[in-house]
Amino acid sequence: MERFAIIGFGCAGYHALEAIRQSGSRASVDIYSNTAMPPYNPMLTTYYAAGRLPFEGMFPFGSLEEIASRYDAHVIAGTAVKAVRAADKAVVTEDGTERTYDKILIATGASAFVPGSFGGLKGAFCMRTVEDAVKLHDAVAARHYKNAVVVGASMVGIKVAELLYKQGTHVTLADMAPHIFALAAYPEVSEIIEERIRAMGMDIAFGQAITAAEEHCDEQGNVTGYTVHLGDGSVIETEMLVLNIGTRAATGILDPEEVRIERGIVVDEKMQTSAEGIYAAGDCCQGNNLQSGQTQIIGLWANAGVQGRVAGANMAGGQAETDGNILHNITHFLDMDFIGLGDNRITGDTYTYVNREKGFYLQAVIKDGRPVGFNILDNYGISGILKAHLIKILRGEGCTFTPEQRGQLMHYGLEQGFMDYLEAAV
Ligand SMILES: Cc1cc2nc3c(=O)[nH]c(=O)nc-3n(C[C@H](O)[C@H](O)[C@H](O)COP(=O)(O)OP(=O)(O)OC[C@H]3O[C@@H](n4cnc5c(N)ncnc54)[C@H](O)[C@@H]3O)c2cc1C
Repeated sequence: MERFAIIGFGCAGYHALEAIRQSGSRASVDIYSNTAMPPYNPMLTTYYAAGRLPFEGMFPFGSLEEIASRYDAHVIAGTAVKAVRAADKAVVTEDGTERTYDKILIATGASAFVPGSFGGLKGAFCMRTVEDAVKLHDAVAARHYKNAVVVGASMVGIKVAELLYKQGTHVTLADMAPHIFALAAYPEVSEIIEERIRAMGMDIAFGQAITAAEEHCDEQGNVTGYTVHLGDGSVIETEMLVLNIGTRAATGILDPEEVRIERGIVVDEKMQTSAEGIYAAGDCCQGNNLQSGQTQIIGLWANAGVQGRVAGANMAGGQAETDGNILHNITHFLDMDFIGLGDNRITGDTYTYVNREKGFYLQAVIKDGRPVGFNILDNYGISGILKAHLIKILRGEGCTFTPEQRGQLMHYGLEQGFMDYLEAAV
């Protein structure tokens, strides 16, 4: 009987296991997870921390026991893998146990990155894992924080800022980048969002790094607050500090001499790494970016699911492929919806469509006669169709909307003329 190992049991690992069984494989599957919890959805952690979701709500696939029995898997929970030796396909756990396999999937995701200079701050928060969510949840339940500095104006940072704002905490959102959602939004769209955030009473400190933070404690050693120093020399006194500075792909269990690693583990369209029989999927890997043709980490839930399914099907002996994805972000915060589709660094002619009656704003960037990106504010209904349109164009599959798509876009408030334009531009 073939023996498979899946290392890391998040979205990618779960979908790989499902695909292995759906492909009819009867291989034995060992799943290594460094937590004792079932796979969780990191997108839901801020909802739990805000008290808007029960604890169990973060685990969309059921308990570990249910999953293990549903898919006949052996889950080795609460056990971190220390190393994977690609040459002999061996998995080495922290306690020194070694097992060899026919095929191995690395699905270790990513972890929050906290620069060394902030590493000693014992009371600062970050937001990636269930443990992070529990820590923040318990802190805001136990104490009313008058003010907070949230570092990192990303999709994660804004969700943390939102939950604190809704608790009545005065929030300063800080980022080294000049604007919010630096990796997804066009400057004009960022400015609209920033104006709204300021109008709500939040402060913004963009375009400068946080250079240092001093932690203050009372006589019992409890953290009472921080003095945060910004690059321009200004100082903010705050009771709470949240660091959402970025993430790093969890690739440390592989030897870069054996497996090609850049920012993430480099994979082909079958999710195979440079080492035979070793696959990777999800936030730990670099799959194809359809727009650039380069491999890139595309750290999105749906992407991790697709990559996991492709890897699982191929481990089971199938011939599954994914030609890649585009950068896309869809987020709801502070009664706004922001959708960014495509690489926002690509410049071209900019077209703006404002529907005051339906209350939404759309910006399209057109390069060489083709749409290369969209930003949408307050209309998530059109995002799926525009994403599919962008992907079809990139795949060279034509550029017209179907009558159903046109109907849908009209329903959500887009004018025929603008749709014609998005087609005629190609
Ligand atoms: C707060 C937050 C908000 C987000 N919002 C969105 C959003 O709005 N839309 C969207 O599309 N995406 C969003 N994402 C990203 C999305 O959640 C991820 O892309 C997706 O969960 C990645 O899945 P994964 O399986 O690759 O990794 P993970 O979910 O990180 O799972 C990896 C697992 O591997 C385990 N592991 C790591 N190392 C080892 C080891 N050595 N041994 C054993 N186990 C190990 C980890 O503990 C973890 O359980 C968000 C993420 C966060 C943190």
